[in-house]
Amino acid sequence: MESGSVTCRRPPGKLISYELGGCVVEGSPERDGGRPMSELRRSLLEISPEELGAWVVDRGHRPYHARQVFRWIFERRAEAFEGMSDIPKRLRDELGLAWTVFSTRVALHGVATDGTDKLLLECGDGRRVECVLMAEGDRRTVCISTQVGCGMGCVFCASGLKGVERNLTRGEIVEQVVRLRNLLPEGERLTNLVVMGMGESLANLDNLVAGLDRICSNEGLGMGQRRVTISTVGLPDKMRKLAAMDRSYNLAVSLHAPTEALRDRLVPINAKVGLREVVDAADEYFRRSGRRVTFEYVMIRGVNDGLAEAKALADLLEAKKAHANLIPYNPVPGLPFERPSAEAVRRFEGVLKARGLSVSVRKTKGREIDAACGQLRRRTAAVGSPGDL
Ligand code: SAH
Repeated sequence: MESGSVTCRRPPGKLISYELGGCVVEGSPERDGGRPMSELRRSLLEISPEELGAWVVDRGHRPYHARQVFRWIFERRAEAFEGMSDIPKRLRDELGLAWTVFSTRVALHGVATDGTDKLLLECGDGRRVECVLMAEGDRRTVCISTQVGCGMGCVFCASGLKGVERNLTRGEIVEQVVRLRNLLPEGERLTNLVVMGMGESLANLDNLVAGLDRICSNEGLGMGQRRVTISTVGLPDKMRKLAAMDRSYNLAVSLHAPTEALRDRLVPINAKVGLREVVDAADEYFRRSGRRVTFEYVMIRGVNDGLAEAKALADLLEAKKAHANLIPYNPVPGLPFERPSAEAVRRFEGVLKARGLSVSVRKTKGREIDAACGQLRRRTAAVGSPGDL
């Protein structure tokens, strides 16, 4: 197997550390971290079947081998070329010299007692990103990141504490999904994808849509676009651009406050874009895509969880065919914010429901593995990865 593919998922509730020797590492040091070779090779997830087809033909092989290779990766979960038994040996060798399947390695794999898996992936440049797999009933949902760090600076969030380092490539976006899918038992499929990990999704719109389109294509995982939700802090221009792309992805907008003044405090970018503009752009997204927009509202004790805010939020959303998702705050060590009481959440939800709004309250999963965005990467900074400097 290549680049530290995950082979151990136990014991639950612990972080399995490859670096700290907590788990058997398969493969050579070159494959699993030293990577002098892989620096020269690109991941196949960065290119399309057509591009690989042209590459294959250039080397005197039949073009259909390109589709076979991708079928091995997306359908048959291959993580290296050696095992692709119906690909000619010479082509497999050539592929192995020029390409890799994955470009990251698994730095940490955490498994929570509720079955949530979290991967901390180290990119080719040593930077690290997080992604999560959650199981709930028949649902198998992955949550992925779009940037290393985040430039939005929401005051309560761990991801933005050190700003943004770079956008993830489309291959790195696809890779998170494929790696998490490969953790599922044979025969199980992913049912949902949420772009709610590290980074501002729409600040990396082109790579994100290229990656998601790949995942949703028949040459990818064949997932329905309607099973995908993109969460944004609310960048109106980018929301309109996404609307004009005519996809069926769901949009979730991180509102977190019903008034300009409160939103300016919690979501600093609001001072530039304005709550009104964000809500207008969300309306346009709904009009063009026909997809009902979700407004996310992180509830923070004593900050935005009162009845006055609930009523103001109901006023703002009442006339819309929108959905409100209340997210009880997940405390971040070092930040002065607290989770609201269960009673405050219930009351807030009650106000919105009484006004006829569609509301849900998000359950927290994987708390003991720091599954909230940016938290694991931050905690493991102590391990001394270049990506966290
Ligand atoms: N940049 C995108 C994706 C961020 S993460 C966005 O802003 O939507 C997805 C959601 O988790 C956002 O609504 C974000 O505000 C929220 N979030 C961030 N930190 C959190 C925390 N500690 N507890 C609960 N929700 C949090």
